[in-house]
Amino acid sequence: MRDKTPASIYWYSLKDPKPSEAFLGEMKTTVAVVGGGMAGLSCAQRIHDAGVPVVVIEKDFCGAGASGKTSGFITPDSEIELSSLLDTYGPEKAKRIWEFVISGVDSIRKNIDRYNISCDYQVQDSLFIANNASGFKHVTKEYEARTQLGYTSTLYDNAKVKEIIGSKKYAGAVRYPDTFGMNSYLYCQAMKDVLRASDVPIYEQTPATSIVGHEIITPHGRITADHIIVCADRFIPDLGALKKEIYHVQTFLGITKPLSSDQIQVIFPKNPMMVWDTDLVYNYFRLTRDNRLLIGGGDLFYTYAHDVTNNTSRFGRRLKNYINKKFPLIHIEMEYLWPGMLGVSKDLLPIIGPDEDNDYIFYVGAATGLPWAAALGQYAADRMLYGRSEFDEDFSPRRHFVIGRRMQSLLRTPATYALSHGIAKYL
Ligand SMILES: Cc1cc2nc3c(=O)[nH]c(=O)nc-3n(C[C@H](O)[C@H](O)[C@H](O)COP(=O)(O)OP(=O)(O)OC[C@H]3O[C@@H](n4cnc5c(N)ncnc54)[C@H](O)[C@@H]3O)c2cc1C
Repeated sequence: MRDKTPASIYWYSLKDPKPSEAFLGEMKTTVAVVGGGMAGLSCAQRIHDAGVPVVVIEKDFCGAGASGKTSGFITPDSEIELSSLLDTYGPEKAKRIWEFVISGVDSIRKNIDRYNISCDYQVQDSLFIANNASGFKHVTKEYEARTQLGYTSTLYDNAKVKEIIGSKKYAGAVRYPDTFGMNSYLYCQAMKDVLRASDVPIYEQTPATSIVGHEIITPHGRITADHIIVCADRFIPDLGALKKEIYHVQTFLGITKPLSSDQIQVIFPKNPMMVWDTDLVYNYFRLTRDNRLLIGGGDLFYTYAHDVTNNTSRFGRRLKNYINKKFPLIHIEMEYLWPGMLGVSKDLLPIIGPDEDNDYIFYVGAATGLPWAAALGQYAADRMLYGRSEFDEDFSPRRHFVIGRRMQSLLRTPATYALSHGIAKYL
């Protein structure tokens, strides 16, 4: 079950991810959370704050999954934009969902402030940028959705966008505030320390190999819990649940050597921003505090690959070519490069719900974004503590998907997901 990602991850070079000792023996508790990523840690924090005993078990180390590999764009946008939510749900529900994701952004920010977490926290606006004329229609639609629902944003046309991004290759953009960048691996590691310091047991190197009744079986012991919340994202199917409803997509990140101030001035003539473009398999970039350019992207074939792609050099070239094409005056040298997989559903919205047979087991997956993961982890906690339920149906694994289970068996999973994501984004 171990993730085979090679260790050329810039974030790890800043702090060695030394896992603590594995769980050994037997224990009883009120709540056990499986998974020490953004969702699991946020869930455990909420439960602990309510004064209820909680234990976290993590198969590797906190942040070993998607949460510790990200580009650290903390924005309510993720795979799904506000305009898509508006199309699907209408204004009232789209706004409720968006506010829910914003609560995830806010809770991450609040933890950084409250615990003084050193995680390269940088307030930067978000910029959703159009690659071409049809992309510009897309960003205009996003701007209109934001305006309709009362969110501040600025629309830039082809001429205006050159004032904030030093490239002639973009057709326009929508920009908005209240977002930030961070090193999400350091954030997860810090939250592990915060929780431990307040006596929440967190056992790393402790995979749940199966869940039998109220017992979580691990290689060296078993934990019995009244409630089990599984925040294992794309690994949930490994535990035998949601096999058709959760798959994964793969994306690649590169980090350059530090740029000169002249280079930065070319890319961001005014202020650094967190930028992503309008392609289905999109590219994205932002500046880190030590002036490195973080660039991400993928390609359709590898996005839906079954396993992590260890041949990263091809993607190093791709990411470099992207920057060369958009900013011909900038020559970058990539220093770190890594692939990462995140859990997804067919419509790019999360999957949450109780186990089909045991309602004391609850799954949180396909979060597609750190703010989503934080908000959903808290939602799962609130649901268990107070019976919260307002999104149960919207994010249920039993909701309607354009491609259903039978068709999925014929098409196979990767094709089903690629097709479904095209539909979710563009139709
Ligand atoms: C390369 C990359 C870049 C990204 N960039 C961004 C970004 O800029 N902004 C953004 O908002 N989102 C980004 N994302 C998406 C984001 O990382 C995820 O949506 C989010 O981290 C999901 O959090 P999670 O806690 O649900 O999952 P995870 O972080 O994957 O956590 C699940 C945890 O469960 C553990 N686990 C799995 N199985 C078991 C088991 N059987 N027993 C015990 N533990 C288990 C795993 O080891 C893992 O630590 C990115 C993802 C990737 C891969």
